[in-house]
Amino acid sequence: MALLDIIEAPHPILSARAREVTDDEFGPALIQLLADMTETMYAAPGVGLAAPQVSDSRRILVADPGFEDDEGKTKKGVELVAMVNPVIVERSRDRINWEESCLSVPEFYVDVARSKEIVVEWRDGAGQPQRKTFSDFAAVVLQHELDHLDGVTLLDKSSLLKRSRYIKKQAKRAKTGGR
Ligand SMILES: [Zn+2]
Repeated sequence: MALLDIIEAPHPILSARAREVTDDEFGPALIQLLADMTETMYAAPGVGLAAPQVSDSRRILVADPGFEDDEGKTKKGVELVAMVNPVIVERSRDRINWEESCLSVPEFYVDVARSKEIVVEWRDGAGQPQRKTFSDFAAVVLQHELDHLDGVTLLDKSSLLKRSRYIKKQAKRAKTGGR
């Protein structure tokens, strides 16, 4: 197991559409990547992580909407999913609003409206097809991670003013080499 580096927006990999994982890529190396991404997500700590966030521009994500870092409250692993080539095949007309944050857009919070319920089809690391319905917070987390696979981050969901403020702050951080 290994912790991976999480890149921060703005970054060309985070703005690119990730490619599909091909049949010959399923197997031990992909399963290892999913394990490393899961470990990286928990360490951050976060409830979701998409491969572009660790500089791998493929359609891969991990999520554990039940994970909370608060001691004693955590349901770590209960709702954990590791998805390869995930696709939303159905979505509810009902919407849910949530103030979202992102490991790749530090200290940035945006209220986003999403589908309240979605059905996702994906393949696991061994290539087996999976299908599941996700509601409420789990649906929010998965739609956020799926956005990453299309090169969409919270920056794209915010106002121009808020975005330019963030980009200025990030440029300053890069120059001084810290927060
Ligand atoms: Zn994110």
